[in-house]
Amino acid sequence: MVYFIGAGPGDPDLITVKGKRVIEEADRIIYAGSLVNPQILEGAKPEARIYNSASMTLPQVISVMEQGEQEGKITARVHTGDPSLYGAVREQMTELEKRGIQYEVIPGVSSFLAAGAALKREYTLPGVSQSVILTRMEGRTPVPEKESLEELAKHGSTMVIFLSVGQIRELCRRLKKGGYGSDTPAAVVYKASWEDEIVIQGTLRDLAEKVEAAGIRKTALVVVGEFLGDSFEISKLYDPCFSHEYRKGADGSLGSGKTDGADE
Ligand code: SAH
Repeated sequence: MVYFIGAGPGDPDLITVKGKRVIEEADRIIYAGSLVNPQILEGAKPEARIYNSASMTLPQVISVMEQGEQEGKITARVHTGDPSLYGAVREQMTELEKRGIQYEVIPGVSSFLAAGAALKREYTLPGVSQSVILTRMEGRTPVPEKESLEELAKHGSTMVIFLSVGQIRELCRRLKKGGYGSDTPAAVVYKASWEDEIVIQGTLRDLAEKVEAAGIRKTALVVVGEFLGDSFEISKLYDPCFSHEYRKGADGSLGSGKTDGADE
């Protein structure tokens, strides 16, 4: 059995209870050494074999899983954040399916959630934006043209940009070209939830300069949008004048309408 596990953003306490349990039980652990905090592996069995996938190819990773399977062992494949975002997991799943090897995915706390926590902000503010775009700039991996930063920026919604802080100057330029004003608040969160986390706040006008001055070139997210500002509407969910199926309104009536359920 193979378990794909989201290790969380860095702080070893931010792995799920289930993910931690599988790591404790695993006979083989393959972890993405460039970003996964090695402290996550401290609970591993002393006899567990540990592989750092940073120096491995896809066939090598699959071969470790395949051998484990033949020996009836448990393999934990540990990815940073949540495996479903830029995890290169799908290609592994396809190979396992070809070989009839069972697998399960245990989700993790993505770095964009840790960045929201570091910023102490809500991505989906009423009257500001109700959508979050998670994207990246092209690097060695291309991005479809219809998802260019300029195109996505047209929505003016909250954006979180992975894998791109090394191109921060071009990134800010392209977001402005797409339609965000120069005064749009923007921030970079470096190593969210790690002990050496850094948060840099600014606007699309000055963020690049600040980030370059801080020497941040990787392991950071760029977040953009008016959600970083201070103007927004109060949510209906906790509004005393608004009733819903779980709570009476100020006039004592119980709402007949469905709540659109914020975070209940
Ligand atoms: N699956 C991961 C993303 C992997 S791609 C997740 O869910 O978070 C790697 C990119 O994620 C990095 O280039 C960086 O943009 C971002 N990243 C990963 N960990 C981070 C962290 N602790 N703080 C800020 N950005 C991080």
